[in-house]
Amino acid sequence: MKLSLRWQAALMVLLTLGFCGLSGLMLWEMRREAWNNNIRSSHNLLAAISQDVNRNLEIYSLSLQAVADGLDRADVRAASPEIQDLILYDRAATAQYLDSILVLDESGKVILDSKSRPPRSVQAADRDYFTVHRDRADAGLYVSLPFRSSLSGNEIIGVSLRRDHPDGSFAGIVLGTIRLAYFQELFSRLKLGPGDAVNMFRTDGTLLVRVPSGPDQVGRNIAGAETFRRFTAATSGEFVAKSAIDGVERAYVFEHVGQLPLIVDVALSVRGIYAGWQNKAVVLAAVLLLLCAAAVGLSMLLTQELRRRQAAELAARRSGEQYRLLADNATDLIMRFDAGRVPRYVSPGSRTLGLSPEELREVWSSDLVHPEDRESAEAPWHAAQEEGRSEATYRLRHRDGHYVWMEARYSRLPGDSGFTVVARDVGKRKAVEIALQEANEELARLASTDALTGLFNRRAFDDMLRREWRRAIREGGSVALLMIDADHFKAYNDHYGHQGGDAVLSAIANSIAQSVRRPGDTAARYGGEEFAVILSNTDTAGARDVAERIRQVVEGLALPHAMHPARVVTVSIGVSSARPQRGQEPAPLLAAADAALYDAKAAGRDTVRQRGVEAALDLDRHREG
Ligand code: GH3
Ligand code: MG
Ligand code: MG
Repeated sequence: MKLSLRWQAALMVLLTLGFCGLSGLMLWEMRREAWNNNIRSSHNLLAAISQDVNRNLEIYSLSLQAVADGLDRADVRAASPEIQDLILYDRAATAQYLDSILVLDESGKVILDSKSRPPRSVQAADRDYFTVHRDRADAGLYVSLPFRSSLSGNEIIGVSLRRDHPDGSFAGIVLGTIRLAYFQELFSRLKLGPGDAVNMFRTDGTLLVRVPSGPDQVGRNIAGAETFRRFTAATSGEFVAKSAIDGVERAYVFEHVGQLPLIVDVALSVRGIYAGWQNKAVVLAAVLLLLCAAAVGLSMLLTQELRRRQAAELAARRSGEQYRLLADNATDLIMRFDAGRVPRYVSPGSRTLGLSPEELREVWSSDLVHPEDRESAEAPWHAAQEEGRSEATYRLRHRDGHYVWMEARYSRLPGDSGFTVVARDVGKRKAVEIALQEANEELARLASTDALTGLFNRRAFDDMLRREWRRAIREGGSVALLMIDADHFKAYNDHYGHQGGDAVLSAIANSIAQSVRRPGDTAARYGGEEFAVILSNTDTAGARDVAERIRQVVEGLALPHAMHPARVVTVSIGVSSARPQRGQEPAPLLAAADAALYDAKAAGRDTVRQRGVEAALDLDRHREG
C-alpha cells in the first residue's frame, strides 16, 4: 500500500499528537499519585500522632484515676505523707512533660500536690477544669483550655477528673497539668514541608498546639471557621480548604483522638504537595515538547525531502517518457544496449530493416552485419566504452536478405553501463558515394585512355613504363619495349581522307591489343600513328615474337592501301629490352626501341628490327658515374 504524502504527514502529526497526549496522561497520573501519596502519608502521620497523644493521655488519666481511687481509701488517707506519695503517684506522674498532679477539694483549695508538701496554693475555684466538674457529674476526663501555670510559669493544659463524696455529691477534682511543649515537641519531630502544618484543637475550637508555631496562636478559637465545622462533622476525614489561620490552601486530614475531646489534623499545603511533581513535570514536559518539536520538525523535513524526491522522480520519468516519445517517433533506429550488449530497447525505426522492434531484439546479433563490415562494426563498441562516443558505417541485413547501409553513432554516458546507438539508413548517400567513386574511376580511366583506340594514352604509358621500370629494378627482372609505326600513313590520309586514316588506326590498335594478352603487358597509343607496348619480364627474343605477331596480324587484316607498294596497310616495329639496375632511367630503352623502329623503316618497312640497350645504359651509367 502506498500512502500519499499528505497522509504520511497527517499520520506523523497524529502519532506525535498521540505521543504528546499519552505523555500528558502520564503527567496527570503522576500528579494524581503525588496527591495520593501525600494524603496517604498524612493519614499515617495523623494516625501515629493521634495514637501517641491518646495513649499518653490515657496513661495519664489512669494515673489521675489511681490518685482518686487511693484517696477514697481510709488506710491511704491514714498513712504518712511519704507513704501516701509512694502509693498515690506512680512513675507516669513524674514523666517529663507532666507538670504536676494536684488534688483540690470541693472549694477549690489544693489538698495534695505531687510536687510539694505542704501543697502550693492555687486559685482554681473559677477555672474551667474545676467548674465543669462542680457543675456536672458526668464530665468525665476533662481537657482544659490552655493557660499559664502560676506555679511553674509553663504554658499548660489541665486534665481533670471529678471526685465524689460517698453520697455522690461533689468532692473536688484530681488535676493533672501537661506542658504544651510536650505536644509541640512531639509534632516538631515530624518532617513537614514549607506551608504544611499539624494542629491539635479542643473539640470546642480552641487551638492547643500548632507546628510550625506562631505568636499568639495557642488559645485562639476557630469554632466559627469553615475548616473547623468540617472537623466536627465526622470523627475523621479529609478535605481541601483555605486555612482559617493563615489563609493558605491546604489538604486537611483530621481525626478525633480516641474518646478524648481533642482533634488533630495534618494540613499539607496544596502547593507543597504538587511542588515535587511540578519540578519533574516541568522538566518532563520540556523534554517532551522538545522531542515532539523535533519529531514534527523531522517529519516536516522528511516530507519535504520525500516531496523533492517525488518531484525529481516525476521529472525524470517525464523526461524519460519524452525521450521515449522522441525515440518512438524518430525515423532513425534508436537502440539501448546493456553492458553485455544485449538490446533492451529498440525504437520503431527498426522498420528500416523490415523488422518490428521486438523482432529486431530477437534476431539481433553480429550475424546481421555484412561479413565484409564485421570488423568495422566491432570497433565502435570498444571506442564508446573507452571514449564515450564513436561511430561507424556498415551494412545490416534487411529482412528480405539485402543489406542496408547504416551510419551508427554509439554513446555511453558517464556512470551508464549500457550503450545508446542511433543508426540511420544512409543507403541513398552511400549509393551517391559509390556512383561518385565509379564516376571518378571512369574519369581516371578516361584520363589515361586514348579516345580513338581505347588503348592507354601517352601520359598513362609514361607512368606505366616508369612503374614497370622500378618493378624490374626491385625484382631484378627485365622490361621489353615495342615501338610500332604505320607505314606510308601520310599517303594513306592523303588518299583516303583523315577519317579513313582514323579507322585504320583503330584497327591497328585492336590488332595490337589482341596480340598482347599477358597481365602486366601494356599497349598504348604513343602519338599520331605510333603505338608502344611494354612487356613485363620479357627478353628481346620474346619481345620480337610478340612484335612479329602484331606485324602479321596487321598485315593479315589486308586493309587496302593504294599508295603502299604492298597494297595493304602494314606496320614497322622496333624492339628493345633491358634489365635495369638501380639508378638507371628508362629513356635509353625508349631511344633504343625508337632506333630499332628507324632500322625497320630503313629496311623497307613491314618488318621488325631490334636494338640492344646495354651499351646505352652503360654509357648512361658512366655518364652518371
Ligand atoms: P613512313 O612512316 O612509312 O616513313 O611514312 P609516313 O607517311 O607514315 O611518315 P610519318 O610517320 O612521318 O607520317 C605521319 C603521318 O601520319 C602524318 C599524318 O598524315 C598521319 N597521321 C598522324 N596522326 C594521325 C591521326 O591521328 N589520324 C590520321 N588519319 N592520320 C594521322
Ligand atoms: Mg610516324
Ligand atoms: Mg608512319
